[in-house]
Amino acid sequence: MLQFAGAQHHIGGIDIPSLVREFDTPLYVYDTAVIGERYRQLAAAFAGSKVRIKYACKALSNLNILKHMKALGAGLDTVSVQEVWLGRKAGFAPEDILYTPNCVSMDEIRLAVDAGVQINIDNISILEQFGHAYGGSVPVCIRVNPHVMAGGNINISTGHIDSKFGISVYQMRHVERIVKSLGMVVNGLHMHTGSDILDVDVFLRASEILFETTHYFPDLKFIDLGSGFKVPYKPDDYFTDIEELGKRLSERFTAFCQEYGRALELWFEPGKFLVSQSGTFLVKVNVIKQTTATVFVGVDSGMNHLIRPMLYNAYHHITNVSHPSGIPRIYTVVGYICETDTFGWDRKLAEVREGDILAFSNAGAYGFSMASNYNSRFRPAEVWVREGKAELIRRRETFEDLLHNQVVHG
Ligand SMILES: *Cc1c(COP(=O)(O)O)cnc(C)c1O
Repeated sequence: MLQFAGAQHHIGGIDIPSLVREFDTPLYVYDTAVIGERYRQLAAAFAGSKVRIKYACKALSNLNILKHMKALGAGLDTVSVQEVWLGRKAGFAPEDILYTPNCVSMDEIRLAVDAGVQINIDNISILEQFGHAYGGSVPVCIRVNPHVMAGGNINISTGHIDSKFGISVYQMRHVERIVKSLGMVVNGLHMHTGSDILDVDVFLRASEILFETTHYFPDLKFIDLGSGFKVPYKPDDYFTDIEELGKRLSERFTAFCQEYGRALELWFEPGKFLVSQSGTFLVKVNVIKQTTATVFVGVDSGMNHLIRPMLYNAYHHITNVSHPSGIPRIYTVVGYICETDTFGWDRKLAEVREGDILAFSNAGAYGFSMASNYNSRFRPAEVWVREGKAELIRRRETFEDLLHNQVVHG
């Protein structure tokens, strides 16, 4: 099993200080080679099935990254009609885009239908409304909640009994009733039970539950097993064992297809797995502040740019890029936002000095895409490193951007 990649001093062959000189901080940097490696690893693990990988673009939705995914052969998993439009803009064909919203209005779903993408339905109310509107003219996928507790954190677990996601596996008879009465076509079944699932058996158990519901639906073309693949964030963390999962699940899926009577496509929709490790977030140290309890390192960013530590209690490995040979000391790394925004407590870092550059690992997924303008700060620039060359893929915001939509009176 692959393990945590560790501290970084260069990205895609380019040393970090030169990236900072050219693009300044705070800065998101993505190494496209790492995205390619992850994509090929996943595709190879499931090569025994008709596998389709739909990149869950809420993890990182820069158009250049979307185009890169398309070039690799991926489709797209979207959770809003705006993501559908981004996907179309990036050149994805409508049939390669899956639209998996939650608690959206029928009006938004109509817009997705107009865009021609595969619709995934996640509650019975919308299923009925959809059936009345479209009957069998637009096939739908059903998002099933298998009631499997999986994932690293209650906020990122979606398959459990208290979750708002999907239609309960115990309501499939009701779904069948609506589908038959309204002449609907169900072409896919879907589940996504949460993020950070390490245990291959959990995937297999949840898949089994989904397979058991297929007898209600004779028109299936694909089964979508969602995502949840874990990537290592800490030095002692592991990836989900993709090779083992691929081997065991492909075997089971082949047998299932025989029982079902037809070879179905097997879909996955990874976000984090494809982009997390490709990303590094670079910040500069503004101040070192000794208090009675700790030594704070205050940087030129905050939870407005990387919210995962505060929102999910997530660990992002931090490296002092500027002074790797410094004697290690214990620090608390914090942001500049006027509320508590801690990136990491009690981190052992090579001695940190004001002006040093710190690198946050695993910043590709849910980093920039969750960034905001809180405290009226500009969102960072994004750069990718592709074939040994660093290129700007989103410019840093300016004061004009902050003012852009404000309607000022009198
Ligand atoms: C967020 C999401 C994903 C991706 O989850 P990761 O943990 O980033 O792989 C996949 N499918 C759906 C429906 C999602 O909402």
